Amino acid sequence: MLATSPAFKQNAAHAMADGGLQKALARTRPTFPARRASAVANLPEFEQLREIGKQIKNHTLQNLDFYLEIFAGNVERAGGQVHWCSTADDARAAVLGICQRVGAKTVTKGKSMISEELGINKHLEAHDIVPVETDLGEYILQLRDEPPSHIIAPAFHLNREDWEASFRQSHTDLPADRVFVERRDILTEARTRLRQKFLAADVGITGANFLIAETGTSVIVTNEGNGDLTQTLPHVHIVLASIEKMVPTLEDTVSLLRLLARSATGQDFSVYTTFSTGPKRAADLDGPAEYHVILLDNGRSAMVGTEFQDMLRCIRCAACMNHCPVYGTVGGHAYGWVYPGPMGAVLTPSLIGVDQAGQLPNASTFCGKCESVCPMKIPLPNMMRHWREKEFERHLSPQGMRRGLSVWGWFARRPGVYRFATRMAMWGLGALGRKRGKFTSLPLAGGWTEGRDLPAPEGDTFFARYAREQRAGRA
Ligand code: SF4
Repeated sequence: MLATSPAFKQNAAHAMADGGLQKALARTRPTFPARRASAVANLPEFEQLREIGKQIKNHTLQNLDFYLEIFAGNVERAGGQVHWCSTADDARAAVLGICQRVGAKTVTKGKSMISEELGINKHLEAHDIVPVETDLGEYILQLRDEPPSHIIAPAFHLNREDWEASFRQSHTDLPADRVFVERRDILTEARTRLRQKFLAADVGITGANFLIAETGTSVIVTNEGNGDLTQTLPHVHIVLASIEKMVPTLEDTVSLLRLLARSATGQDFSVYTTFSTGPKRAADLDGPAEYHVILLDNGRSAMVGTEFQDMLRCIRCAACMNHCPVYGTVGGHAYGWVYPGPMGAVLTPSLIGVDQAGQLPNASTFCGKCESVCPMKIPLPNMMRHWREKEFERHLSPQGMRRGLSVWGWFARRPGVYRFATRMAMWGLGALGRKRGKFTSLPLAGGWTEGRDLPAPEGDTFFARYAREQRAGRA
């Protein structure tokens, strides 16, 4: 997938001027946080569970090579095959190789962010294989030739009228009087079209929410049931998963599942939680004849042992982006690659380079909400700070910003001068803005005053106030 992350600022400006997107965001923004809050309130041990989840993933990451080997051995014992892929190229070649060997013409696909990372649809199309998205949101995006804008609700950026317009444009046999008012109308249309595709598919591709080492099992959670049809009906099932999806045991997986659904959609459990171990056995009524797991590294092992290792605990619940004021304003496409929001602001520079994605960790107010809702207690703001440091050290940040930070650094190292200068600035700005109480334009603050007024400062500096409170014994 071609990254437009270097153009984040332009993407964001475009997103804020997009009336349709703003309407969709305003409608969907409050939904997930409200549901999560209610689910968490109903589970008194939620905080305890967060700590357990964190420890499970930390332990797994510390012993990742061990668990990967155990997993691969168990997949093979169950009759499946593991394909170790260091890069996206390796993974694309492995998927294509399997599809071509079985003469696949049509491939059905469940939702998988790894498949977005690989750009697998375009790759299959380039080799005359037709991929069909079966997740409802992914299906409409395929019709529109758009990437997902959210990791669990791919069509988060669309309004009902966008769905109808896309159906009418692609399904040219639709009667003119067919209505699309309720969600059910949309579902019925997609279901009718997809049913034939499920039956015609030669290969089914799914992602994996978890890979269980002790059993060699892949786990998917969905609310539509499309994942089950994708992986059980075709002759071949291919699982696309990155290495950090590993979990040691079934019991650990259940703990993480309890966190995932509550943090993601506010459900106690997703509607479908499906465990797949190897191909169909003699006594099974259905299932694929071949079961393959594409195990993708693509930069993740390089994160182990660094200040970004904690990011590999992520279980892709999307709570961080659902609560992020920046994501809620610009939507997911502005981030310019597969993973948006706070988790993307940390993961994307790790996977495609800070030179490509350095603007993303800067797109944060550091309000800390993402970390406070993350079920895996990932210190997202702290890691964004680390990326900002790296961007600065590598001279990737803009000249104006570097000069500004150097000036600020000079003052910050001289506290007496800093306090005097801020006092003078407060006094000067206060006097200049006293009449109107605000500035509508100000040198060096154009980025702020372009979209809003800057209130004229009143009273003392923070340091002066703090010292006064301390003297009075109130701080
Ligand atoms: S970083 Fe945390 S909150 Fe965000 S998707 Fe990952 S697990 Fe969920």
